[in-house]
Formats: sequence, C-alpha cells, structure tokens
Amino acid sequence: MVEEFWNSKIETMPLNELKKLQLTRLKKLVRYVYENNRFYHDRFKESNVKPDDIKTLNDIKKLPFLTKQDLRDYYPFGLVCVEIDDIVEIHASSGTTGKPVVGPYTKNDLEVWAEVMARSLWANGLRKNDILQNAYGYGLFTGAHGFEKGAQRIGATVIPISSGNTKRQIAVMKDFGSTALACTPSYSLYMAEVAEEMGFDPKNDFKLKIGCFGAEAWSEEMRRNIEKTWGITAHEHYGLTEIIGPGVVSECKEKKLHINADHFLPEIIDPETGETLEPGEEGELVFTTLTKEGFPAIRFRTRDLAVYYEETCECGRTLPIQSRIKGRSDDMMKVKGVIVFPSQIESALLNINGLSGNYQIIKTKKGSITSLSVEVEPTEERYKEKHLDDLAKKAEDELYSILNLHIPVKIVPPQSIPRSTGKAKRVIERES
Ligand SMILES: [Zn+2]
Repeated sequence: MVEEFWNSKIETMPLNELKKLQLTRLKKLVRYVYENNRFYHDRFKESNVKPDDIKTLNDIKKLPFLTKQDLRDYYPFGLVCVEIDDIVEIHASSGTTGKPVVGPYTKNDLEVWAEVMARSLWANGLRKNDILQNAYGYGLFTGAHGFEKGAQRIGATVIPISSGNTKRQIAVMKDFGSTALACTPSYSLYMAEVAEEMGFDPKNDFKLKIGCFGAEAWSEEMRRNIEKTWGITAHEHYGLTEIIGPGVVSECKEKKLHINADHFLPEIIDPETGETLEPGEEGELVFTTLTKEGFPAIRFRTRDLAVYYEETCECGRTLPIQSRIKGRSDDMMKVKGVIVFPSQIESALLNINGLSGNYQIIKTKKGSITSLSVEVEPTEERYKEKHLDDLAKKAEDELYSILNLHIPVKIVPPQSIPRSTGKAKRVIERES
C-alpha cells in the first residue's frame, strides 16, 4: 500500500476506467432495484424505463429522481431491497422537519461504509498510532458510528465519548492523549472555550493534530479560526443518511473534497428544471449509491448546492472533486430579492478582527417580507476594549460589501449566545 492512499487502486484510477466501473455497477443496480423493490419498479414503469435502457452513464437521465418526500412517504422500510432479516444495523436522521429518514444497512453495506470512512480519515492523515476522540453524538445519528468504523478499520484507537459533558471531554483529551477529534465544527470551538476556562491553552497543552468536522455548514474562515485555536489541521466531512452517512467524500491534504465515486455516482442538476449541468457549474448535488444493497438510493436530490469538477489534484487522487457546500437549498433565504446563505454571513463576520464565531441570524417575517439581523459575540479581549458600536458598524459594512444588503448587527456580550454540543442553531425565526 502506498502510504499516501488507503486504496490506491481506486483513488488513483484513471477517470475513464472509473467511469467504466460506474457503468457496470449502475447497470447491475438498476436491474437489482427493479427486480427487488415495488417502489422502484413502479416508478421506473411510470417513467417508461427498463433496466436494459441503461447502456451508457448518460442514460441515468432516463431514471426518475428520488426525493426526501419519497422517503417520508415510504417510511420506514418501503425502499429496502433485501429481506428485513438481512439488515444488521439501522440509523435515522433527527427528523426535525418531519418523519426521520431511515438508513438500513446490510453486512455488506457496513463494509462499504467502513471502507469509505477509512479512505476519508486516512486522507486526513489518521493512522494506526492515532487516538480519535469521537465527540459526535452516539445514537441513531450516522455520524459517530461512521467515524468509529473508519478509524477502527485503519487500526486507530477510538474513544467513543459521544457529545456533551464538555469538561470531561477536555480531561479525557488531556489524559488519554487524543491526537484527533471528530465532532461538529461549532462544538470544537466551544470545547476550546471550556479548555481555557479550565486553565488549559488549547493550542499547546494537548496532543491534538487532526480535526474531522462535519454535519454543519461552516465557512473557510471558521476553519481557519478552529485551526488557529487548536493548532490542528481541520478537515471537512460530507455525507447524508440517505446515501450512507459520512464518507461520501474524502478531503485530502490539499483540502479538496474527492467524491468516493466508485460507490456514489454524483450529478449536478439545475434545481429548478432538473436538467443536468456541466462540470464547473453550480447546482444541486444528486447521488446514486452504486453498491448499496439494503437501501439503495437512485438519483437522490440532496438539496445541497455545490460544483463538480473532473480534474487532477496535487495529492495524486483522480477521484472527482466537489466544492464545499454553499448551503442547503432549504437554508437559502431571500431578502429584498437577494439570495443569502447563512455561510456567507459567517464568512463576513469572521473577516472582522475582534468578532468570534458565535453568532445568530435572526430572521423576521412580516407578512411576506423577510428581514434579517445578526447578533454576534466579540472576543473577550475586544469586548474589554469597549467602542462596540464601531465593531458593529464594521460588520455591517462587511456584510453590505458581500451581500449588497443592509443587515443590522448587534454586538452581544461574550458567552451570551447558546452553545451546542451538536449542530449549532444559526438561524432563529421570529414573528414580528
Ligand atoms: Zn486531492
């Protein structure tokens, strides 16, 4: 095995060979779901498409999309393609906006999951001698389990501490000598605050060197902030319960997100028309799981906006690349005709010296008119310097220069915005 790659055969496979492999797997998958699942069978019939119609990768366009609504309608096991006996593990999303999405896995699906997570963690630099503090919440959520499977496949040590109980997290990190941390990016910053309160210097008093972060949209500015605070390299992890959980992409040392496209076939579509877009164009990510048995997804619309690239990367991987997620199309806000993503607001705020990454966006609806305001904490040092109006004005100017919108900014005292040990709640809706 070449040290650089977990699976050099796949990760450095020429693109044309990868596409051949994808086509072989796609043909097999389409026949498999058509023969084994009532929902897919009927859907394909309605769209007038049969397994034999898939002759090229381009023919995937003949297949209907799968949406979150379909998953809700067929909750919990309507899309399962095996006998329920063959399912060995079940996960589910939190279901904050309706019924949860269920992810049932066969033994083989778990093998695939461990493989893609091992690739991802290996690409982040995790090795056998590392100790991964796994501070994603254990439970139905896919996060913690995906990281555990991948790290153990590599042979690293896993500390399954789960999220919360932050003082204990810090004590364990110190005493066990954790070298890698997996959690949401916002929780890692909260952990640093608690470490400081306990009298530690996050950058110098721990052995931490790698951060494996995901489950939240976070900006490059936030990444730099975390790297500086902890003195680590922070990596993005992207995944979805509907596809497999984390492990859909592997972020290399060039900080490019390589799609594990031998298992997950990506497409980018125009979210309005559903038409396929070219590499380099921004649109909605759509994935087809090429090798899953329990719950294969065909053309699942993620609602996430990104760009897809087919280009060689400095790291040597040939797997195609996706940009970081600009935001879920569900998070998109329209204010005075301007499209705004929470991640753009975060970028603007973190560009201002003296502001911290703790902020909330207040979305107020008056009839059909939406307006936004922002509450943000300064750093402790900046707070003591007073003249907070100047700081608010700077933030408003920065937001205006990026969004061409006037968004009022209120500076609130440090520690006043609620912290989360999981996904941070960035947007608060208020009726006026
Ligand atoms: Zn790369």
